[in-house]
Amino acid sequence: MEGESAVSQGSSSQEFPSKEFPAGTAVCLLCPQHCQLRPGQSGRCRARGNKEGAVVSLTYGEVAAMQLDPIEKKPLYHFYPGSEILSVAGYGCNLSCSFCQNYGISQARQAGDTVSPGELAKLAENSLGLCFTYSEPSVWYEMIRDTAPLVRARGGKVVLVSNGILTGAYLDELIPWIDAANIDIKGFSEEFYQKYCGGSLSWVLENVERLAGRVHLEVTTLIIPGANDDTGEIRGLARWLESLGIPVPWHLSRYFPAYRLNIPPTEPKTLQTLWQTAREHLPYVYLGNVSGGSDTFCPHCGERVIERAGYIVTNRLRNGHCSRCGTAIFGVGV
Ligand code: SF4
Repeated sequence: MEGESAVSQGSSSQEFPSKEFPAGTAVCLLCPQHCQLRPGQSGRCRARGNKEGAVVSLTYGEVAAMQLDPIEKKPLYHFYPGSEILSVAGYGCNLSCSFCQNYGISQARQAGDTVSPGELAKLAENSLGLCFTYSEPSVWYEMIRDTAPLVRARGGKVVLVSNGILTGAYLDELIPWIDAANIDIKGFSEEFYQKYCGGSLSWVLENVERLAGRVHLEVTTLIIPGANDDTGEIRGLARWLESLGIPVPWHLSRYFPAYRLNIPPTEPKTLQTLWQTAREHLPYVYLGNVSGGSDTFCPHCGERVIERAGYIVTNRLRNGHCSRCGTAIFGVGV
């Protein structure tokens, strides 16, 4: 695969039709931000740019971070619990969340190590597989597309941890190669996405619907005091997730000040209240970045079926079923 390749069989770009822009201006279609790029200009994500009239990846093979992680860290609690997965990131993100916990690689780009898809797949071989995470994987589209089949060929699983913002047609192209995804739904209002992230909630919900039932899916929401912690809003999102028709595990994580947002951390009692609200609609709700709230209970008899102490996992399921009442627990490899 070429180092700077246009997306897909065709291209992620089209010539911009307006006469207001100089010749060679192109619009990137990979995500709904639809950046209009002059020759030599890079997009909002810093990962793509206009090279000679075509939008290309600027970060193909550039590794921003790579390490072996517990699958629970993604977080994925219902996908091969207790396993480890090689986790890798490129640079860049198509949002600019003021509370970003990984802003050092999502909002910046530095020259660093490079790796080929074949090398990545080989490195992933001794773990569950390969997880694209930390920054925003969708803007590293070509790397995922070229690497995922190689991971699969070696028997590994492919996981995405994403903000869910990618043009539907491109996501459809990736889905056959994805085994599991954790998608951030950062808040449940357009106002929140506009004010804090520079994006649209509708873009995300559309792709969560697209993924549901086609890959193993879990969802994460970072709860930020005064920004997205309204009980009614959380209930609204819980109901929306419930309407998907599958018991999507939902992770409510505690916010800590990061990047440009400096309000105090979320109170644990707020998380507990929201957990109770969410549990009225969904069987598997978890708390993150706080002690407690990370165990899995059988939705039928209430038995504690998976216990988590940090990243130490005690799985008491029998072939994916509650050992007390026999109820099947949602997930893959549980
Ligand atoms: S992928 Fe990057 S360059 Fe393309 S539209 Fe999205 S933010 Fe802009």
